[in-house]
Amino acid sequence: MVKKCQKKRRSFKFFIVLLIITILILLFTFIYKERFLDKVDYSQKGNITYYDIYGIHMNFEGNFKLSGYSNPKLVLTDGIKEMIINWDLDKHDDEYSFKTSEYINDGINLERLNTGTYYLLIKVSNDDEDIYFPLVNKTEYKDLEYYTLTGADKKIDIIWDKYLENEILKFDIKNTKLPDDVYDITIDPGHDGSDAGMIVCANGDVPNYLGECSNSKAYKESDLNFTVSKALKDELEKLGYKVKLTRDSKNSKLPTYGKMGSGTTANTVKSKFNLALHHNSSNVPGGMSSTYGLEVYVADNSKFDLAKSFVKNITKKANISTSTKEEFKTEDGIYQRFSDDGITPYYYMIREVGGIATHAYVDGSNTKYDANPYYNSNNTAESYLLELGYIDNVKELKNIIDNPNDYARGIALGLDEYLKNTSD
Ligand SMILES: [Zn+2]
Repeated sequence: MVKKCQKKRRSFKFFIVLLIITILILLFTFIYKERFLDKVDYSQKGNITYYDIYGIHMNFEGNFKLSGYSNPKLVLTDGIKEMIINWDLDKHDDEYSFKTSEYINDGINLERLNTGTYYLLIKVSNDDEDIYFPLVNKTEYKDLEYYTLTGADKKIDIIWDKYLENEILKFDIKNTKLPDDVYDITIDPGHDGSDAGMIVCANGDVPNYLGECSNSKAYKESDLNFTVSKALKDELEKLGYKVKLTRDSKNSKLPTYGKMGSGTTANTVKSKFNLALHHNSSNVPGGMSSTYGLEVYVADNSKFDLAKSFVKNITKKANISTSTKEEFKTEDGIYQRFSDDGITPYYYMIREVGGIATHAYVDGSNTKYDANPYYNSNNTAESYLLELGYIDNVKELKNIIDNPNDYARGIALGLDEYLKNTSD
């Protein structure tokens, strides 16, 4: 009995000592960090003139004046740990301007940040001394929040904070379970119950005005899109991702805009990626379209890493080729189609989903549709439009009808491979 009691007392003591040590470490870290913020030179400032989150990447643009120092760096630091952020820096006399990337889907990879509280600062070194100065917000935009992909389970708050009345940009990163209404990936099965897209006959006949075929089965593009989308959702869920479909059935109808439209659901559910699935046609009657193959449509100013991963994996898994179409082609299988100005993406699934990163403009002033509530947003999903093949080519149609899971597997693998390999 006595022995047991002593043992209990000893472990209680041990617990108290451990608690005190923990408190001391926390206190020391806290004081050190506060003192680090005291060391920041608030008399100099950099300006942020643009920032956004597009997909999993965050980007900043800005400028600052600097005399007496050379080799400035952009850092994300808590005073102890420090991460150097790559930037393109332009210098004219004492004036600098910077951009963290020339591409919209590149820059700071938010998936790679560790938990903690960090500040985005400009760092210069002089006579073995490091000097930090803050960045101030010159845009109309405010704080942002970002949820990492399922599995990483983190929330990142990007806050325009104050320290002793001075503006400072803070990244607060915490482990958290993802909220129920936040998703990783949104899939939009193109068209819907009220808009079938192209209707074709399996044998290449042209359907009658009711969309019926007399000697073979009729196929609607909207249904084929839905079949592959549903299979893609299953494939991505097997890989651990949380997936939202913009429509739940072949016949359900979907608005384009509003909160849960085809072009807006991705941002309402805060997903990082949006994939719009379609099947193409070249309007050649007789099922003998000489155009065939895969087309991946990409936004302007994009890095093609993910698009290339889609092309590689879809062509391999579905055993198809890249498209023979030359118009809008940028690289093999990769397409960019713009409006007349040469910059604004033609497809709303790319343009409107990306908010300011992709020049969205549906603000409700055209009363024919609802507004896109995210047209002016700087926190949006990275969006791709996939034309999986030509259904007025009977051979390609047969492959799509017989093997929808192969297409789905290729798309899922394309995204998963990209996410596992990308380090920045
Ligand atoms: Zn379509």
